[in-house]
Amino acid sequence: MAFYRRQTMVSSPAQLSKTWIRNQHKEEILRDHIVHSILLLAVATSSAAWAQAVKVTPLGSHAGELCMRDRATIFEDPTGLRILYDAGQSVMGADDPRLGNIDVVLLSHAHGDHIGDLKMKALDAGTCDNPQVVSAAPNSTTAEIVAAKNAAVIMVVPLANFIGRKVESIRGKPTTACSPQTGADVVAPLAAPCLATVQTGGTRTFKASATSKAVEITLVPAAHDSTVPIALLGDAERKNLEPDNVSLTLGPPGGYVIRFTNGLTVYLSGDTGLHAEMQTVERDFYKVNLMELNFGQSALTPEGAAYAVNTLVQPAAVIITHVNEGATTGGKVRPTSRTAAFIALVKGRPVYPALSGKTMEFDGAGKCVAGC
Ligand SMILES: [Zn+2]
Ligand SMILES: [Zn+2]
Repeated sequence: MAFYRRQTMVSSPAQLSKTWIRNQHKEEILRDHIVHSILLLAVATSSAAWAQAVKVTPLGSHAGELCMRDRATIFEDPTGLRILYDAGQSVMGADDPRLGNIDVVLLSHAHGDHIGDLKMKALDAGTCDNPQVVSAAPNSTTAEIVAAKNAAVIMVVPLANFIGRKVESIRGKPTTACSPQTGADVVAPLAAPCLATVQTGGTRTFKASATSKAVEITLVPAAHDSTVPIALLGDAERKNLEPDNVSLTLGPPGGYVIRFTNGLTVYLSGDTGLHAEMQTVERDFYKVNLMELNFGQSALTPEGAAYAVNTLVQPAAVIITHVNEGATTGGKVRPTSRTAAFIALVKGRPVYPALSGKTMEFDGAGKCVAGC
């Protein structure tokens, strides 16, 4: 009886139509669910790719511009490891609110505009062409920041030792070697600043935590000089050097190659003229895909700089800094600048001016995926 009744119910045209509508509704829900799942997957995939980008933030004298004294750049690996390259004079020293955590500090050579014998009086002080600076003697912006941030230093030996002594006088405690010294990873965060000394060609590895993948940093050659500003020397040394007007050199100058955990391999040229290692070391051996080029007029012409990029290094993209001119207005490159002349000569790859405070994000292939 029950069976018969059910059969009768299902067989009724009204009931059949209701069942059909219900099934249609289920199908729609299922379709919506699938579409939703695909969308979620797409969002998850793109945010995973996003999370794999290296963040590059120039710290210059004037927000949003590339100015006369700009040098400093912060690199943040996807694991969170934060590296400061050449603190220089366009930061306010340890108190600069833009710094945040700094795990590793690089310094290409001892010149004042890199070690930071001067510092910004305040953010945006003065003009882009003539930023207002004050003395950072006797310590330098580099030593102030290393001391305040408990950072590891990776520099050529004499330069690291010089910075180590400044850090010691700030903290009142000796600056020791990063342990272990056997070439194993230096793991952040550190309880105290430390020295990871290298010679040209030397590599050290740094991790954001014990379980993170390591970021590999190598000191590479530069064709330049590395004399230290006299204002950062003690009285005795100053008096010694003065009669002959000679300077003190803290080892060979350098650049760096950083291999990040997403595969991005950056060549930081340091101050340099053209040299053959740009091809043999940076392009052929390290296969760098992003280049941050220092474009000082005492070392490179626009043609020479473009040759370094187009022929010697051949990176996927270029960041231009150390231009020794007010290169931008409103974040746009001034058409009559040396920087514009260089950019016009670069072929087949983008050139990004290092605009202060503007974070650019690069994937493992050297492609800018955000902020450029
Ligand atoms: Zn220099
Ligand atoms: Zn310089």
